[in-house]
Amino acid sequence: MPLYETQQLKVYNSLSGKKEVFEPISEGYVGMYVCGPTVYSNVHLGNCRTFMSFDMIFRYLRHLGYKVRYVRNITDAGHLEDDAGEGEDKISKKARLEKLEPMEVVQRYTVDFHNILQKFNFLPPNIEPTATGHIIEQIEIIKEILDKGFAYEKNSSVYFDVNKFNEAHEYGKLSGRKLEDMIASTRELTAQDEKESPQDFALWKRAEPQHIMRWPSPWGDGFPGWHLECTAMSTKYLGDTFDIHGGGMDLKFPHHECEIAQAEACNGKAPVKYWLHANMLTLNGKKMAKSTGNNILPNEIFSGENNILSKAFAPAVVRFFMMQAHYTSILDLSNEALLASEKGYLRLMEALEQLPGLATQSSSTFDFQAWKQKCYDAMNDDFNTPILIANLFEAVKQINLIKEGKGTITDADKQLLENTLNAFVFDVLGLVHTTNQGEDSEQLAGVVNLLIQLRNEARANKDFATSDKIRDELTELGIQLKDGKEGTTFSTR
Ligand code: AMP
Ligand code: ZN
Repeated sequence: MPLYETQQLKVYNSLSGKKEVFEPISEGYVGMYVCGPTVYSNVHLGNCRTFMSFDMIFRYLRHLGYKVRYVRNITDAGHLEDDAGEGEDKISKKARLEKLEPMEVVQRYTVDFHNILQKFNFLPPNIEPTATGHIIEQIEIIKEILDKGFAYEKNSSVYFDVNKFNEAHEYGKLSGRKLEDMIASTRELTAQDEKESPQDFALWKRAEPQHIMRWPSPWGDGFPGWHLECTAMSTKYLGDTFDIHGGGMDLKFPHHECEIAQAEACNGKAPVKYWLHANMLTLNGKKMAKSTGNNILPNEIFSGENNILSKAFAPAVVRFFMMQAHYTSILDLSNEALLASEKGYLRLMEALEQLPGLATQSSSTFDFQAWKQKCYDAMNDDFNTPILIANLFEAVKQINLIKEGKGTITDADKQLLENTLNAFVFDVLGLVHTTNQGEDSEQLAGVVNLLIQLRNEARANKDFATSDKIRDELTELGIQLKDGKEGTTFSTR
């Protein structure tokens, strides 16, 4: 029997503003779409947080036994500088500034994105479609919306008619905005504006002669609007109505609101059952963002080459840090927080190492079965990873008590503990067991092993002054040498 039959998952649906029991449209199957990156620059740690939140959600759904089709797109065209649909295409602009083909820009940053996600131990989505690979589908949707009367053509561009849509549907229901208020708070249209109303948004934009990313369409050469690609790719692979749509909180409006409007205008029904939004990673209390420069790149953290942190941190430690916050809470990155996460992570890994060696007895001094259910209860409550981690540390405490002879565990409970810990730590949270403190640790190991060799040579030559000096100075640096039967090993504190 799959786990989802006995574990009742609840998710916070941004559309209803409530936690709801998760019941997929087709029993046992989940369709999930997450807005992917715009590949015009390296992903910063903030972007990674959103994708990591959905990686964890993907992992837990799979753990519960659902067959999940996870679609996460690559935005390689149509995302203009200003989310309201004005300005230059972000990828075109980068290509122009760096004298590259737009597809060179796309390739470079897609590869970077995949590399970073691999370091963080992400599971790949089942489908990773690109916007440029779905231009035909986008044109078909525009035709359909025009046919239904919810869009108009102006000078070879096509705009979505928000006022018309709002007569029969409700524009603003996801973000909790009213169209009247939006109209009242926006500037008047000028004579140059092509839109009939400031809230209208582009489905298709005419390409000016200098615009390098362009495709033919029934309305002339142009390119699709950013919101449209997600409607085209999500419904193509997951159906007109699917289970989960995710993204960062900042995409709720206008991006997701426009996706709902497009899909409802086209198909007459709501595209998504559960809208899930991940909250922002902040740095110095402000949203991490490419545009403001208030950001840090994952590789800068792994290598320690940055002006914000005192040392390098391994990807698993950063992942653990992210998982210590609920995905709907704001999380602030700081040196202190990462140092504390590193300590916690190492304590957890140490307990996992101790576990196989624990002696078993005829009874247990702790209710491991109830503890296991508490871990599930945490995750079933809208993926509450901080509570799950608190429960994992309860297990760490028990392991240490048993090790010190202050507690006992039966064979069966030891097996249950091992299985449950492995499932939650590695499969669900996606952590990996590493003593690696950063990318430079391989180099560190090489250098210390070289010093160990020199020390061995000094000892063989009875040059104890040199051998002691090597050991003492390494100790000063926080590197402990341990002489054993197998030779000398080292540990760092
Ligand atoms: P973009 O590449 O700008 O389209 O963004 C990719 C994803 O990163 C979107 O889901 C954004 O919501 C998300 N995102 C951007 N900045 C942050 C941040 N500071 N914290 C968390 N997620 C973010
Ligand atoms: Zn999207």
